Amino acid sequence: MLTTDKAKIDVSLIDEMKKETSIAFVDLKTQQMRIRPQVEARLASVLDHGQYINGPEIEELEKALSDFTGAQDVVLCGNGTEALEFAMMSEGIGAGDAVFIPAFTYNATASAVLMAGAQPVFVDVDASTFNMDPVDLDKKVKAVLDEGRLRAAMVIPVDLFGLPADYSAINEIAVRYDLKILADGAQSFGGRQDGKWVGNIAPMTAVSFFPAKSLGCYGDGGAIFSQSKEKAEIWRSIRWHGTDSTHKTSIRPGTNGRMDSMQAAVVLVKLSIFEDELKQRSRAAALYDACLRGAIDIPERCERSSSGWSLYSIVLDERDRIQQALGQANIPTTIYYQQPLHQMKAFEAFAPKNGLPVSEDLSRRILSLPMHPYLTDDQIHHVCETLIATL
Ligand SMILES: *Cc1c(COP(=O)(O)O)cnc(C)c1O
Repeated sequence: MLTTDKAKIDVSLIDEMKKETSIAFVDLKTQQMRIRPQVEARLASVLDHGQYINGPEIEELEKALSDFTGAQDVVLCGNGTEALEFAMMSEGIGAGDAVFIPAFTYNATASAVLMAGAQPVFVDVDASTFNMDPVDLDKKVKAVLDEGRLRAAMVIPVDLFGLPADYSAINEIAVRYDLKILADGAQSFGGRQDGKWVGNIAPMTAVSFFPAKSLGCYGDGGAIFSQSKEKAEIWRSIRWHGTDSTHKTSIRPGTNGRMDSMQAAVVLVKLSIFEDELKQRSRAAALYDACLRGAIDIPERCERSSSGWSLYSIVLDERDRIQQALGQANIPTTIYYQQPLHQMKAFEAFAPKNGLPVSEDLSRRILSLPMHPYLTDDQIHHVCETLIATL
């Protein structure tokens, strides 16, 4: 009898210990506990009004997002990839066009270019910010112009891991060669540059509300942020089969690209705690910096920008060994990205002859540590101490 009791006590102790030490890579559970009553009320309201598509939540969220960021207009759509596609569509990007994108990003950036019928031209990234290298962009545009086969049409800078790309340098190049700029802000909602929020930095910004992004829904969702109300009206048309405002007659090519009312309801609730969560992400990043400084290279800070901290990523020489050791210590980490885009089968036909050395090197050395607003200081200390012990 005694041994049974003892076993029971031990098991519950282990459970307690696990609770204290288990660290989530992204913690949607704790966030949900915080907002559950508000989410349930918002979802119940959708069930009550029954406008599952184009309910009042859509306009309400579009307005809330443009108020938050200062963007002229915001158009919700089905996901972040569609946001990129719609922006390319309205700019007339298609066959014969070169679209310059970084090679070190999520594959959606490149697949959207192919879906538009255009050709991706891969640009290398900066080794310390992980964002598009403006010097290499200039080189790649010149090469396209020299070759004369494609029209240099658009550049899609990506704000990797939350840090806005170098828009002032990219803008200079875009003006010089008459390139359109479409920002891929799928990872950077909450980031800032020169006093402006992501969504209001570039003329057009694609954002994703995939659940694991910093501002996410409970399904798929996305938005295009715009400096132009006319552009926004075109995207509203494209997302509804190219119809006019009556939705009865089609006036241009379009598709079904709407975000639904339930997803907008969820984002509305999450937006109400977003600034607090952003503060918590910055606190976590600053503590990671303080604990890791001197032991490894910490993520680059830029004077004119602040990151939305969707991810905290470091560069390590023995990345795979260290990741395994952290895994054995129950510390979850992820590799974004194992493979630069120009080495993927779908895009290798567009790989530059001499490769892209920084993107290739980063794919072998990058590692993302747990990052979310609900990491405790103790958990961050634990991650850093464990990491430093493995070096
Ligand atoms: C997530 C992501 C996308 C695509 O967003 P979805 O909503 O998943 O379509 C595009 N670009 C980048 C950089 C992303 O991280």
